[in-house]
Amino acid sequence: TGIQTLLLSRIRDVADHPEPGVMFKDITPLLADPAAFSALSDVLSGIARSTGATKIVGLEARGFILGAPVAVRAGLGFIPVRKAGKLPGATLSQAYDLEYGSAEIEVHAEDLTERDRVLVIDDVLATGGTAEASLKLIRRAGAEVVGLAVLMELGFLGGRARVEPALAGAPLEAL
Ligand code: 5GP
Repeated sequence: TGIQTLLLSRIRDVADHPEPGVMFKDITPLLADPAAFSALSDVLSGIARSTGATKIVGLEARGFILGAPVAVRAGLGFIPVRKAGKLPGATLSQAYDLEYGSAEIEVHAEDLTERDRVLVIDDVLATGGTAEASLKLIRRAGAEVVGLAVLMELGFLGGRARVEPALAGAPLEAL
């Protein structure tokens, strides 16, 4: 579609970042273009409405930038999932494996309840480790996951297969 062409034209490929051999998808040109950023927020807000979400969860750090305007447009609360050690209150945490080592993400436990229907937003689905851990975290907090929406899916890394069990039938929307 025209919107997909616009969004794709505002993503910059950066070779060998953050390490040799990696082609990094840089979304800062998209953020700097008000028409593209606004179009992206519109599409994501439509997904939030159609899934019946009650909360937007954004994944640190670019999921904050993409998720916050969606929460405002759709009239929903925004909840940050952060890297371990950043949130000041009582948290739930979830560890996950990286290619080398492991990582941990956290959410404020009181921000999610059994009544919440959560749409998770991030910029890039790569191996799926971050998204999978966030979906588990949301479920452990007692809330329902109604979808995962990302700007880009790097299909060759197999993230979709990794997150599918944790989505339990909820849609993965990759724009
Ligand atoms: P995963 O856990 O799926 O391997 O990695 C996804 C996380 O790393 C996301 O939070 C995403 O922001 C970040 N990430 C991985 N690769 C890229 C990339 O090429 N571009 C951007 N912008 N983020 C990436």
